[in-house]
Amino acid sequence: MQLHCFGTAGYHPNEGRHTSAYFLPESNIALDAGSGFFRLEKHIQQDSIDILISHAHLDHVMGLTYLLDASFREKISKIRIWGEEEKVNAIQDHLFNPLLFPARLDAEWNTIQSGDQWEIRGMQVTCKEQEHPGGSLAYRIDWPDGRRLVYATDTTGDTSEAHAQWSRQADLLIHECYFTDSESEWAEVTGHSWTSRVAQVVKQSSPKKVLLTHLNPMQDGLPSSDLEAIRAEVASEVIVAEDHLCVNF
Ligand SMILES: [Zn+2]
Ligand SMILES: [Zn+2]
Repeated sequence: MQLHCFGTAGYHPNEGRHTSAYFLPESNIALDAGSGFFRLEKHIQQDSIDILISHAHLDHVMGLTYLLDASFREKISKIRIWGEEEKVNAIQDHLFNPLLFPARLDAEWNTIQSGDQWEIRGMQVTCKEQEHPGGSLAYRIDWPDGRRLVYATDTTGDTSEAHAQWSRQADLLIHECYFTDSESEWAEVTGHSWTSRVAQVVKQSSPKKVLLTHLNPMQDGLPSSDLEAIRAEVASEVIVAEDHLCVNF
């Protein structure tokens, strides 16, 4: 299974990174649709897509507007978007307000809530609420062959036993790592994770691989001392996300 990283920065793009967007081409599932979402058209292999939205902050949804062209030219004929009701409504009412964007998007908007479990083309998908201003959802995808992916971004990092159970032993955990330990107070205020908190989450849920992402765009990636600090704490393989990176799991 492959995961393509289209955007790996939080907040805003920088010279080397766009904001949150990931794609599973074999399963036609996208995780968030930030500014990196313009890269989808090169990689999409079928004419339908399911997009799981963590929350409606702009760095995760602005790229939904980039689907208009592919949709109009019928390159993608079926777009299904999944998210919490108030977020889905906010995207439709505000992002696709004619004062902000000239056309509506022909998509199926599906509302879900924390704890829901549903099926997308044979894959089991579940979501779980996270601590973040306005709230956000973590997603877990289980494939019929037993493979598991967990996507947790825009979260302070859930260290509860319930979350460890829910996300346990993923083949790939995609987890945000926006702040360093010296900024942990500010991280909690803004609803983001910091180095040692991420290490704790990874240790508790023991994924095979962890992809650190939603990185601070004001820095050049994750400082190597922070990466080494996480690697020293956990048994999982730890990878730092880059735009254009393709992760096998
Ligand atoms: Zn974000
Ligand atoms: Zn956010």
